Amino acid sequence: MKRILLIVLISVGLLEAVAQPVQVGLYQDNLVKAAVVYCSAGSYQLVMDGNIVSRLEEGGILYLTLEESKLKVLDADRDFGHCQQLELRGLSLESIFRIRPIQPELESRLYDDDLVVSASDRFLTLVNRVDFDKYLAGVVETEAGDNAEKEFYKAQSILCRTYAMKQLDRHDSEGFSLCDGTHCQAYKGKSVSNPVILEAILETTGMVVADYNFKLITAVYHSNSGGQTERASNAWLTDVDYLQSVVDPYSLHQTNAKWSDTISFKEWKAYLINNGMKSVSRIPDEIIYVEQMRRKKYFILDKDSIRMTKIREDWGFRSSFFDMFPEGDSILIWGKGHGHGIGMSQQGAMKMARDGYSYQDILQFYFYEIRLMDYRDLPASSLSQAKLEF
Ligand SMILES: [Zn+2]
Repeated sequence: MKRILLIVLISVGLLEAVAQPVQVGLYQDNLVKAAVVYCSAGSYQLVMDGNIVSRLEEGGILYLTLEESKLKVLDADRDFGHCQQLELRGLSLESIFRIRPIQPELESRLYDDDLVVSASDRFLTLVNRVDFDKYLAGVVETEAGDNAEKEFYKAQSILCRTYAMKQLDRHDSEGFSLCDGTHCQAYKGKSVSNPVILEAILETTGMVVADYNFKLITAVYHSNSGGQTERASNAWLTDVDYLQSVVDPYSLHQTNAKWSDTISFKEWKAYLINNGMKSVSRIPDEIIYVEQMRRKKYFILDKDSIRMTKIREDWGFRSSFFDMFPEGDSILIWGKGHGHGIGMSQQGAMKMARDGYSYQDILQFYFYEIRLMDYRDLPASSLSQAKLEF
């Protein structure tokens, strides 16, 4: 396929970075009924149902409990009574809080900016109202770790920003924009371990990946492609122009480039029959093994087929890119890569950054016919779903 790469680079300096809050639902896999909040830096205004009632200074602590569908609020020496919604509004540029759910007991996490807690019948909705770039720093650290080059972090930041901006209406009915699980993008709080992550985000602030029609792309990434990325239509039902298969030497020899597994020959044969491969019982055993020099969409026997992604899912393999070899009564699986294989390989991108490639080079390598541009230059129709405060 002909690769046309039109890159529109809008230089956005650090000073032009604008504060854009995004609302992120926290601890979304649990129904939190009580939590302790600590002010770790700066100070906060306490607002109960719209009324300013107090301040929480650095070192201060608040106890929040759900009681008969209302939120009970206490600090170290005062009982503030009950409300429906509590806001902790940061009063300084750097306001940081720590929250620890105590019912159920969950790990404590550190967050930038504001906290909004709402009471309902069965649980508290915890929302971090946070500057979009600070949110992205937390996402990038959670999704990509803290030990990579800045150019890799820039590429990852642009993908995380694009992915988030495309999903901003996902949780409208729940009172926030994005959740903190893998459903949106994993976000375990403030980025703390590598200042280069936030630098990479600020140096690319506002930048997103659009397709040739100026629409935000589905900015997918995975751990390691195993040497060839997956075409979107091999895994999904529809083809996507910018998600084609790329031969990816950068992912080879990285930690998640290979995996192996063993399964029983008898169970494999039974699996094929159960999935409609009727010819299995009349063809020689030697040919019922998967072989993939290049990624295949289907495993085909005679006139029957099974999607490789289905085999991966059913057997819990790390990728759908693997070969099988007979070994006694078992089958040895030699697999390549880790994850769905679509879009950017994170370990391949990290290698490219170590080899001196720029974030533009990295994104152009993994995606076809893309435009790197500032979201503020996208046509309004492309941003209809976005709920940032522009
Ligand atoms: Zn979500």
